[in-house]
Amino acid sequence: MANSNSVVKNVIKVRMNHSWITMLVFCTLSLVALVATAAFGELLTAYLIDGKVSSEYNRLSYLSSEYSKDSSSVINKLEGSKLEYVIKTDDGELISSNVPDTCGIDEIDTEFVDDIMLYNDTLDPITTVDEHTLQIRSVKLSRKLMESFREIRGFEYRSFSSDVFPLWIEFEVPELNTSIFVKYHVVLDFADLTLLAGFALITVSFIILLFITFLVSVIVTGANQKKNLKLFFMDPITRGKNWNWFIFQGDKTIKSMMNADKKYAVVHLVFLDYRNYCVCHSIQAGEVLLKKVHDLISGTLDKKEIVVRSTTSNFALLLKYQSDEQLKDRISILIKSLESISDDHDFNFQAGISLLGTDRDRKKVSIENEYNNACTARETIENSDESGIVYFDDKILEDRRWNDAVRENQKAALEAEEFEVYYQPKYDPKTDTLSGAEALIRWQSPKFGFVSPGRFIPIFEKNGFITEIDHYMVTHVAADQARWLQQGLKCVPVSVNISRAHFIESDLAEQIRDMVDKEGCPRELIEIELTESAFFDDKKALVSTITKLKDYGFSVSMDDFGSGYSSLNSLKDMPLDTLKIDAEFFRGEEAGGRGRIVVSETIQLAKNLNMKTVAEGVEDRELVDFLADNDCDMIQGYYYAKPMPGKDYEERMINPVRKVE
Ligand code: C2E
Ligand code: CA
Ligand code: CA
Repeated sequence: MANSNSVVKNVIKVRMNHSWITMLVFCTLSLVALVATAAFGELLTAYLIDGKVSSEYNRLSYLSSEYSKDSSSVINKLEGSKLEYVIKTDDGELISSNVPDTCGIDEIDTEFVDDIMLYNDTLDPITTVDEHTLQIRSVKLSRKLMESFREIRGFEYRSFSSDVFPLWIEFEVPELNTSIFVKYHVVLDFADLTLLAGFALITVSFIILLFITFLVSVIVTGANQKKNLKLFFMDPITRGKNWNWFIFQGDKTIKSMMNADKKYAVVHLVFLDYRNYCVCHSIQAGEVLLKKVHDLISGTLDKKEIVVRSTTSNFALLLKYQSDEQLKDRISILIKSLESISDDHDFNFQAGISLLGTDRDRKKVSIENEYNNACTARETIENSDESGIVYFDDKILEDRRWNDAVRENQKAALEAEEFEVYYQPKYDPKTDTLSGAEALIRWQSPKFGFVSPGRFIPIFEKNGFITEIDHYMVTHVAADQARWLQQGLKCVPVSVNISRAHFIESDLAEQIRDMVDKEGCPRELIEIELTESAFFDDKKALVSTITKLKDYGFSVSMDDFGSGYSSLNSLKDMPLDTLKIDAEFFRGEEAGGRGRIVVSETIQLAKNLNMKTVAEGVEDRELVDFLADNDCDMIQGYYYAKPMPGKDYEERMINPVRKVE
């Protein structure tokens, strides 16, 4: 499952994707278009002006040659024309003019005509700044252009011509070291305007096109992002939102300031019978059911509440609540309606709940952790097939921590021999004589103090470490028995508990045989106790292991007989030596009446099957007498002795007859 950080990163990625590339492309293209337009505009202006200057120059170029032949006729001609002119020697001496000499000294660069000398007019403020002639000309031209357009738009068809600015054209007369300067007014005519307007139109169209492309791209990208995000947050089976949405939106909701005064609960809801339903029907039918479940829950939600399918048949919910009871009622009602979601089936749902009250600093809360807590709470009832609701609380947290601590320390504890073997003697009730014992483990932990097996054996059974414990116990008991024999003590068989998890190993009988032999202990002094739950497993393998154990000379007993369901059935198939009657038979209201009948009949049944009986958990003489009268072979209970260290047990072997006052 993704965590909220990675989901947020992905969402940002989806949102950012494409849009910044589009922006970059648009900006670059705009910049290129702007630079190109400016450069091309300048060149076009220069082309127009230079073309006009060039044709004027060509029209009047005869002046140079004619002046060298007959200067006065040229002057007369100029005087008679409308042209403004100045004739100067190369030294600057004025020969003739019909206007004040406003011809500038600095030559103007031309783009397209190299052999024509052009000068600015000192009266014209713009063209006097020579360094930027080209730009200035463009600026001025465009200003004029705008004016011309305004004229056209205003239907003032006075003229399409428009005076732009004056320039001086030089006609050199090298033979006389003289030059004729003629003032030329650059004028735009209709053709120029059309050309420039065309250019402007193309430029504007291009920019508009660019903008439209950008706009379309932004819209398409936005739509794609929306689609991608929708897919990113969608569950393909329920067509609703998925886990990504739960942690993305859920995290926002619980951390939002607006919701700070609202209580939220994270719920892990498990559809227990989903897999079974898929096996009996089809996965497709199962998926239809999942969608139904989702839709039903979704229909009960308030604003700011969420339901998503988190994994296969599990749902994650974020619900608002007022009180624990109100929430429990609400979920109970929800589960009730989910149980009968199909007309021809009854289903079961389990919910784990983690509460997020207003007293917690929600900024520090992680919705994934809360969901994990809800899952942990649900796990406490996972062995049940029934619907149920469990709140995550300090006890569950404590259990989990203890579980973790045990797992972390188990190996080192075993190596450091922190586990001790205690012996609980078994007595013959008729003679009060020691006739056997059961080895029971104790953990003397320097870290945790004394730990009773009920607190760690179930953990070892779950995490598999129990097989190591079984080996440890068999080895230690065999070693103790061998030592006691050597010391000349009168040893009785000691039973060792072997976990059901261990019975999966096909060579278990050989392992036990080798361990016992290695310690030099006679095999008949070791009995193997199997809990009844082990009998649910592979029956064939179980019978085979029991048979082998017996062949090797061990006796085998069934522990906790009567605490399960199929005890009688197991008795039929298993070649067992001893039946240990569970302590529960002697407890509770019916222990004295119907219970006694069951016990005495059980003892008889065992006898008929050639089995011995051991009664467990016997605490008073009255019960001892009853069991003795009913031919129970042995009694293991506090009446005779509690489990004790090996040293104390040695005493019991030395004084085997026990008379209790
Ligand atoms: P169990 O095998 O049924 O062991 C009998 C339990 O009943 C022991 O608890 C014992 O102390 C207790 N008991 C015996 N007589 C009386 C009585 O008169 N009154 C009461 N109230 N209790 C009595 P213990 O030692 O706490 O062990 C609990 C369980 O832990 C065992 O149940 C067994 O399932 C498991 N266990 C203990 N040692 C081992 C071991 O070495 N290996 C395995 N696999 N499991 C072990
Ligand atoms: Ca036992
Ligand atoms: Ca037992």
